[in-house]
Amino acid sequence: TKPAVLVTGGAGYIGAHTAKALHELGFFPVVYDSLSSGFREAARWGAFVHGDIRDGRTLGEALAAHNVKAVIHFAGLIEVGRSVARPDLFWDHNVSGTVSLLSTMREHGVGRLVFSSSAAVYGQAGRSALETIPESAPKAPASPYGDTKLACEWLIEAQCRAYGLTAVALRYFNAAGADPSGQIGEAHEPETHLIPLAIAAALGDGKPLTVFGDDFGTPDGTCLRDYIHVTDLAAAHVAALNVDLPAAAFEPVNVGTGEGRSVLQVVEAVGRAAGRAVPYSVGARRAGDPPSLVADPSRARALLGWSAKHSSLDQIVSEALRWERDPMYGAGVRGSAGRRKPKV
Ligand code: UDP
Repeated sequence: TKPAVLVTGGAGYIGAHTAKALHELGFFPVVYDSLSSGFREAARWGAFVHGDIRDGRTLGEALAAHNVKAVIHFAGLIEVGRSVARPDLFWDHNVSGTVSLLSTMREHGVGRLVFSSSAAVYGQAGRSALETIPESAPKAPASPYGDTKLACEWLIEAQCRAYGLTAVALRYFNAAGADPSGQIGEAHEPETHLIPLAIAAALGDGKPLTVFGDDFGTPDGTCLRDYIHVTDLAAAHVAALNVDLPAAAFEPVNVGTGEGRSVLQVVEAVGRAAGRAVPYSVGARRAGDPPSLVADPSRARALLGWSAKHSSLDQIVSEALRWERDPMYGAGVRGSAGRRKPKV
């Protein structure tokens, strides 16, 4: 039988792509999702359990029923701007949710965890906008969202020491793009991410894009981010699950390309791929946005043997665009995504 891996938040964007990668590589994904922001149609591989991570009982039943050996933990709230307005919700879902998950894993003897962390743990912390970030860089989250991811890492590390849990915390930079099969792609409700909003603006089925600030200390004044193809990100999770680590090890690992792209470079790439310019205006900065977040990805290569393979900005944008535009694609979550915006 295939080893069962619980994927919390597996009906969400990165979780669904990872469940597909697990399935393809010989694991049995058990998607555990409250569907508060994920889509049932996106959980297409392995088993599906409807539940909240803060509900230890349902979680424990899922671990036992499927004889789960490892957990990949994505479930949580993700919008930086909303976290500034509602830090209480973020601490409840992200931190209390992780407390519940870890206790339940311990009760059921599940000793292996891959955690969905974030480059948001770094903030700007005195770094110049052109420096890449190694895992050892100072941690100074610029938002309550980043605070919750860092708090979860501390908790996980302490649990590793306390009872021999083995964990990898993947600090993602900016996940983007869509699975090339067209079965799954990015669908957030509401959508707040740059690439899908720029595509919607170019296709004329969204509002014009607002660029959040052009007076940062970066080459063109707009924020620099490290965009990583979701397929590459999914592969990093499987590598983190497979890597040989001693009991009680806790390993934080950046997942990025090492290349920074500005908001205006993304706008141009979307315009090129769509064959239509992205209508935009420059607005105020968004609370909680650091000027630049670009990975030093050398640890991922050394520890996991992983590096980005599909993450040129043009590939990311063209696959994201195909997912958004082509009615032949997206038999999976297209229905849900289609309700919030008319098809082209
Ligand atoms: N951004 C923007 N306009 C938007 C959405 C995002 O200018 O409507 C910028 C945002 O300030 C950040 C970058 O695009 O610099 C990526 O933001 P996104 O929300 O996609 O990801 P995050 O970096 O917050 O994880």
